[in-house]
Amino acid sequence: MPELPELEVLREYLTPRLQGQVIAGVWVSPKLSFMLRTPPEDFARQLQGGSFERVWRRGKFLIFDISGQHLVVNPMLGGRLQWSPASEKVAAATVFRLTLQSGDELRFLDTVKMGRVYWVPPGALPTIPGWAELGPDALSVEFPDFAQRIRRHPGELKNLLRNQAFISGIGNAYSDEILHAAALLPLRKRTTLKGDDLERLHNSVGTVLRGGIEAIRAQPNYEPHKQDRSFMAVHGKGGQKCPRCGHRISELTARGENTDFCRGCQH
Ligand SMILES: [Zn+2]
Repeated sequence: MPELPELEVLREYLTPRLQGQVIAGVWVSPKLSFMLRTPPEDFARQLQGGSFERVWRRGKFLIFDISGQHLVVNPMLGGRLQWSPASEKVAAATVFRLTLQSGDELRFLDTVKMGRVYWVPPGALPTIPGWAELGPDALSVEFPDFAQRIRRHPGELKNLLRNQAFISGIGNAYSDEILHAAALLPLRKRTTLKGDDLERLHNSVGTVLRGGIEAIRAQPNYEPHKQDRSFMAVHGKGGQKCPRCGHRISELTARGENTDFCRGCQH
């Protein structure tokens, strides 16, 4: 699932490529059009001829402003945006293709078919499921505010970090990384944290997310639809050695999602 760092680098990558570009053609997969929250005929007709104004991000949503309207992508578990020449082979998981006058294409792919795409007029963003509840961006929350906000949300730390109403942009992978950086166990209850734990957790949110952005930016063969998370310390590394203490990394699986952490140095 793309999270704040992946979407942030994607935004940076697409902005200079899309700004001012005009959509010359729109194709929607007949089999996957259910992922569009707009009738596919309307989607194709209205986007045709539109020009890209801005690419921005809110939490885990990516938004394209096109001729005054908003194309909103919520990639969920497996949604990916691909940037390619129109001549490139079309992957089976392609949901839509926007062909630009330049001959390049912006494609949306989803192998698990959970992503959602919305095409909404100005002012209608809050009608998108999950939008109105979004808390402030995880990278924008300063310390005393972070501590005050977290008190409103009970529960285990991993779920808390992923609660988009608390702070937005963090999902399954980066929550593991943040908790490892903060040396806190994922199932630990928020109510057991002391003042300096909270400060360390807050610092780790910033360090890990900014570090993720830097690591992705630095990937020499960066392609937006491919996700390389080999730079991570514990997530996806169950059974390997913890880079901080050398203990074997533990992995728990629930509802198809893995939680990776180190019993050696997280408490
Ligand atoms: Zn460790």
